[in-house]
Amino acid sequence: MPDVNPFADVDGGVIYWCEMAWLPPGEVVECVSLRVEGTRITHIQPEVPPPPGAVRLAGLTLPGLANAHSHAFHRALRGHTQAERGTFWTWREQMYGVAAQLDPDRYLALARAAFAEMSLAGITCVGEFHYLHHGPGGVPYDDPNAMGHALIEAARDAGLRIALLDTCYLTGAIGHPLAGTQLRFGDGDAVRWADRVELLGRSLRTAEDVVIGAAIHSIRAVPPEQMCLVAEFANRHAIPLHAHVSEQRAENQDCVEAYSATPVQLLHQHGALGPRSTAVHATHLSDVDIALLGGSTTHVCMCPTTERDLADGIGRARRLLDGGSPITLGSDSHAVIDLFEEARAVELDERLATRERGHFRAAELLDAATAAGHASLGFPDAGMLVPGAWADLVSVRLDSVRTAGATKGTAAETVVFAASAGDVHSVVSGGRRVVEDGRHMLGDVGALLRDAVADVRRWRTPVR
Ligand SMILES: [Zn+2]
Repeated sequence: MPDVNPFADVDGGVIYWCEMAWLPPGEVVECVSLRVEGTRITHIQPEVPPPPGAVRLAGLTLPGLANAHSHAFHRALRGHTQAERGTFWTWREQMYGVAAQLDPDRYLALARAAFAEMSLAGITCVGEFHYLHHGPGGVPYDDPNAMGHALIEAARDAGLRIALLDTCYLTGAIGHPLAGTQLRFGDGDAVRWADRVELLGRSLRTAEDVVIGAAIHSIRAVPPEQMCLVAEFANRHAIPLHAHVSEQRAENQDCVEAYSATPVQLLHQHGALGPRSTAVHATHLSDVDIALLGGSTTHVCMCPTTERDLADGIGRARRLLDGGSPITLGSDSHAVIDLFEEARAVELDERLATRERGHFRAAELLDAATAAGHASLGFPDAGMLVPGAWADLVSVRLDSVRTAGATKGTAAETVVFAASAGDVHSVVSGGRRVVEDGRHMLGDVGALLRDAVADVRRWRTPVR
């Protein structure tokens, strides 16, 4: 007896029909029907005419993009930190200035707008590296996780899943206590940090769309004896563990002077590397560092637009991937929010550094933007168009001025190397249509951003 045709009607689900879709093992396929029930894809059928009642998705439909490294409040810095010539110190002064102005309500509004911008760019899950925990002077709010809850609410409002990477941040630099705005980041020690995160995790135990992860801010902010407590906590709960690593050379020098080890070696010695771990940036690495990261299959999250903006340098992405570290992507400081730009920068920056072309195929860069990113955030069943996976469908126009002329044979390369976030015209996130015809369900996201940024920037006269 023939199986019941899953595309015969739309009862109990929604059928999408894609002009082209990116299907495993990494190829563009035409005329693809997908059935979505609840939050999941249940059936996929390539090369079929549109079933009756199907929602048509033009262009190339990708799995949802994962923004594996974000600090939502940095969105309020865009444009301002480039004032004058925009030194590192301009950036840091402004970053602390914005942090000082945030409370749970303002943070909710700003993060909701920033996450909606991500959603418009095709991002369906964000890894929020969250360290602004407490009120002014480091005084906890009545709910010590009020800021974390604001971020989770913001992601839900904007239609994204979130991995809240709750960050342990204990010292201002190696051997220096927190000072000024930094006091808001600290819990005192890793035991009290863990108690607070435990509380947050308990309140969200049954939430399918939220992962509570752990983070070590950096070797500057977490002393080694505290680092192993954070790693032990992440291992015990089997949750993601992220850390900023070797973003700038000065960090490596300070680390070697204090501990006779590089940041990667220090993380390795204290149990912080492994398949659930992500080294963010990993820009200035030795061959030993690359071997330790790859040997432990630690993810490496590259944030090329931020690394450019802060003049950090260019990481060795190809060596890292070949060594065993899956590459993921993050918009980090949100100088721009466009994962296609992050993806192509991994290849193009490496070309500039080596003066050779052809390090990554478009398929590898798409994997970094999708499946690898979601896995690093604790959502291994996302980022692929397969039955059972999260129903995240991101459709990119192939008729814009940037993408017109693409064919089945060049659609993936066109999207990776030429599309912009503005070419995303439809986003289904966890089964919910959050972007349609380029419009977000929250309405005018530009206005949301304008108002939220203005609200947190009242602390000083805007720069021009
Ligand atoms: Zn960061």
